[in-house]
Amino acid sequence: MHSGPREKCGVVGVALDDRAAARPLYYALYALQHRGQESAGIVTHDGFQQHDHVGMGLVGDAFDEADLDGLNGSVGIGHVRYPTAGSVDTSCAQPFSVSFKSGSLGLSHNGNLVNTADVRDALAAQGHAFTSDGDTEVIAHDLARNLLDGDLVRAVRRTMDRIHGSYALTIMHDDTVVGVRDPEGNRPLCIGELPDGYVIASESAAIDTLDGELVRDVRPGELVVLEADGSGYETYQLVERDRTAHCFFEHVYFARPDSVIDGSLVYETRRDLGRALWEESGVDTDVVMPVPDSGRAFATGYAEASQDSGADVEFAEGLMKNRYVGRTFIMPTQDARERAVRLKLNPIRSTVEGRTVTLIDDSIVRGTTSNQLVDLLRDAGAEEVHLRIGAPPITAPCYMGIDMATREELIAAGEDVADVESTVGADSLAYLSVDAVAAALTESRADLCLGCVTGEYPYDIDGETTDRDVRRPGVDTAPADD
Ligand code: AMP
Repeated sequence: MHSGPREKCGVVGVALDDRAAARPLYYALYALQHRGQESAGIVTHDGFQQHDHVGMGLVGDAFDEADLDGLNGSVGIGHVRYPTAGSVDTSCAQPFSVSFKSGSLGLSHNGNLVNTADVRDALAAQGHAFTSDGDTEVIAHDLARNLLDGDLVRAVRRTMDRIHGSYALTIMHDDTVVGVRDPEGNRPLCIGELPDGYVIASESAAIDTLDGELVRDVRPGELVVLEADGSGYETYQLVERDRTAHCFFEHVYFARPDSVIDGSLVYETRRDLGRALWEESGVDTDVVMPVPDSGRAFATGYAEASQDSGADVEFAEGLMKNRYVGRTFIMPTQDARERAVRLKLNPIRSTVEGRTVTLIDDSIVRGTTSNQLVDLLRDAGAEEVHLRIGAPPITAPCYMGIDMATREELIAAGEDVADVESTVGADSLAYLSVDAVAAALTESRADLCLGCVTGEYPYDIDGETTDRDVRRPGVDTAPADD
């Protein structure tokens, strides 16, 4: 058994006219690599049977030519999985695939259910055996059961009635590929048109990579069914809610800047967040510099807004990144994380020495990065180091699919801003307000998931408070009535 909570991942599905799906899926997974580096997998269908290959590590390491050649068929789905500390194990690599009485099923999941145990217990009572304690297998089993006495659309609807939480799914049932977005639209999912087919992907950058056109975001609660010959798609609005719960952190940190999510280009949103930082808490230093790469768009917006106001803070690259070092987060121990920051970033002395500096990053989680970088810039001769953060203080864990940290590990959960400022050793520290985040995302606060910065979640989670009128679905063992 492995534990699979808080998986932030990337999903894709394609249906093509007359071309093998394996390579387009492989390229799409490359485009989604930032969403998960622990494992990668593809499942295809050739009209008769399903083929699958999953491997550990980066997309480029998980497949070789022979693996791709063996993935026959012009329809398929793919997955990249984010590493969570501890379990490194092929049993939780995806897509999850099963064969059962009414066909074969493949499933890729980004997100996290908050009622996994309820649904698993109900299914186990009916004789379903599980090989993992992850939520993806639970969704697959529930769907397989519903497919025994219903068509795919009805089966998905019944499963959506039972599961509670965040999920962007690509599913392959025999040679039919579908995409589903959770009723609150927490995790992103979009549809693209290719010269010879259609694609459903976590982010539009994957569509661009395949020379396709973004058609639109999948709507919250919507099911998209691709025609197996790539000629089109049908959509079904299976669940409707009054409010969405889009994850603001996708825009702040997680998604690629060149992706469009829920109608907004992520790069422009980050630039606007940077402008808002200047407006809320600008400090007239000689230079503003990003923590590469995540802070770059914020620092650009900050410098622009300062120039508009006549202050003229110069944008400068003050830290050089070694691009071969992985994201610091995946380091299991604090010591390894600290070493990784130093391995990853080195100051460019001439832009720092003798100058006052504003350093911009998208977020502070444990505080490891900020703490080290403030020291690094001072050692390189910075006269002052002011820290500006493009998100509000993260004070609570994420249950919806972003691997964040526990409350004990979150620096802002136990300290107020002044304490964090002195812990990281900055001359000043300011975060962005929640209202500024909502304004930059052009969404109302009520339609965002802000759980990690407010401690109030749009879902019914054990031991946490909710910001809306939601209740976990009752999970009895019979399928819901249609
Ligand atoms: P920390 O060093 O723990 O304060 O983490 C903050 C740094 O990690 C920032 O530079 C962020 O860009 C980055 N970051 C924020 N959230 C995540 C996440 N969920 N996974 C990986 N990196 C993250």
